[in-house]
Parts: sequence; structure tokens; C-alpha cells
Amino acid sequence: MEELNKYSILVVDDESSNITALNAILSPEYTVYAAKNGQSAINAAEKHLPDIILLDILMPEMDGYSVIETLKSSSITKKIPVIFITGLSDTDDEEKGLTLGAADYISKPFSPVIVKLRIRNQIMMLDQLRTIERLSMTDQLTELPNRRSFEVRLQAEWGRALREREPISVLMLDADNFKNYNDAYGHQQGDAALKAIAAVFHDVLKRSVDFVARWGGEEFIVLLPNTDSYGAIGVAEKIRGKIEGMEIPSVSGDGVTGLTISIGVNTRVHGRSITTCEFVSGADMALYAAKQKGRNRVCNFEKK
Ligand code: GH3
Ligand code: MG
Ligand code: MG
Repeated sequence: MEELNKYSILVVDDESSNITALNAILSPEYTVYAAKNGQSAINAAEKHLPDIILLDILMPEMDGYSVIETLKSSSITKKIPVIFITGLSDTDDEEKGLTLGAADYISKPFSPVIVKLRIRNQIMMLDQLRTIERLSMTDQLTELPNRRSFEVRLQAEWGRALREREPISVLMLDADNFKNYNDAYGHQQGDAALKAIAAVFHDVLKRSVDFVARWGGEEFIVLLPNTDSYGAIGVAEKIRGKIEGMEIPSVSGDGVTGLTISIGVNTRVHGRSITTCEFVSGADMALYAAKQKGRNRVCNFEKK
């Protein structure tokens, strides 16, 4: 059984005895996959996305240098740290390996303790990198993904929608009269209201592909893959209604009211050729229309 949270290591060596020895050292702590030649190493790397690859250099057909070159040229596998573990102990060989992007280099015969420590070092660095990546993609206040994170997701889902010939929708949301809210209740209370709005998204967005981000200030954005205009307006209406229903006291031009949100919707149906920029700015224009029409409402982008 594969345990969750356990790091995984792909061991690549054409000699069974080496695989057996490394498996004995590593399997108590890690999930170990093995490959006995270059091509199956590449296949296993793409399939399992191991955290680390231990790679032999001298192998028949495809050697370790070719394997690392292939791994580093693929967007799927290029970030996986590769440790060469090899009988070649020349500094030239080591230099070549490191130049090709290896994270570390271990000579055979290897000491089990050193192998484990070198792997542990790589895992510590991986952890740090992942923490930084997570922080750089997250909005601190609401803990929602941030705008950068949205852009990354949009590119991926946009490509998928094209390939699958599916519609894709986006909602642009902006809290109404939020400046008044801050002025009346203070910035801290304003922050709390933004967190309350963020919590509503978790309630409403149930599909795993739906994606919400804080776009900036009191603006949020929601991506709804495989959702047509009718569905997107439905989701928007649900969000709008829930926020209104929280009855958070706020202030508008007419005096004290409940805090509300305006939403602009845009959909790309299959066959409509627009850019991701036009897609998002369409939702923004619809949001502007919602504000113009009196706020606390959902407007759909209508192409003129
Ligand atoms: P409209 O209905 O037209 O959107 O009016 P508005 O007052 O919401 O819009 P405006 O853009 O004039 O003001 C946005 C306000 O949102 C001003 C700003 O202080 C507040 N705001 C933006 N980000 C934050 C935040 O992180 N925390 C708090 N508390 N307030 C924020
Ligand atoms: Mg606003
Ligand atoms: Mg705004």
C-alpha cells in the first residue's frame, strides 16, 4: 500500500542487485519505484511523478545522460531532482552530470548512510521550494489562491476547454460600496468581511474544477470550466444570494443596508475565438454594467 504524504523515489539501474540494495535502504522511509532502462525510467517518471530520481549513468541503449536530458526537456518532469548514482567517478563525469542539471552525484560503491543523507537534503530543499511556491500563489488575508495562481489555472483550463470543445465561464465579482464599509466599520472589520465573502465560495463551488481567486482589493474571480452561460449565471446568482443572506450590516448611498456583491459573467462557447484577456475583460465589462444598474446583481456579458 502506498502511504499518503510519503515521498517517492524512482531508482533507475540496469543491474537488479543495485535496485535491490537501494530498495532495501529506502523502502522503510520512501515509496520506491524502479526502472531497469532509460526508456522505462522516463515512462515511470511521467506516470508516478516521483519526488526524486536516483539515476545510473552506464546503461545499455539509453545512458543516464540521455535520460536526464529528456527529463529536463519535458515540462512534466523537468523539476524533479535527479541524483546520479554511478560507478563513474571521474571529475569529468561528475561535471557532465551536474552540467546537465543533476542535483547531486553519488559514486559507487555507495554508503547507505550517505545515500540516505543526500536524499534527505534534497527533500529538505524540495519542501522549502514547495512552501515558497505555495506562498507565492496564495492571498494571505483570505487564504484563497491569488491572481497569479488564477492566471496559471486559466491557461491550463483554457487549453483543455479548446481540446475538449467545452464551454468555459468566468465570474468577476466586486463587493458593493466597500469603501463606505471600511469608512464606517474600520479596516479590520473590512478584512473580516472579505474573509466572510471568501468562505461563501467554499459553500457554493462544489465541483473540484471550479476555481476561485482573490483578484485584488475587494474583487474576486471564479473560473467555471465546462460550464455554459446558463450554468454560470446560476452559480453567480447563488453566490450573490448567499452574500446578501449573511446580512452583514453595511452602508450604501441610501444608508445602512446589508453587504452585497455585484457579478459580471462571461462565457466562451466552443467555436468562439477570443483570447483569455478578452474573456476576463468581458466579465469585467459585465461587472461594470451590474454596478451601473444599481449593484447587488448579476450581469452577463453581451457582445455588441
Ligand atoms: P463599488 O460598489 O462601485 O465597487 O464601490 P466601492 O466602494 O466598493 O469601490 P471602490 O473601488 O471605490 O473602493 C474599494 C474599497 O475596497 C476601497 C478599499 O479601501 C477597500 N479595500 C480593498 N482592499 C481591501 C482590503 O484588503 N481590506 C479592506 N479592509 N479593504 C479593502
Ligand atoms: Mg467595490
Ligand atoms: Mg473594486
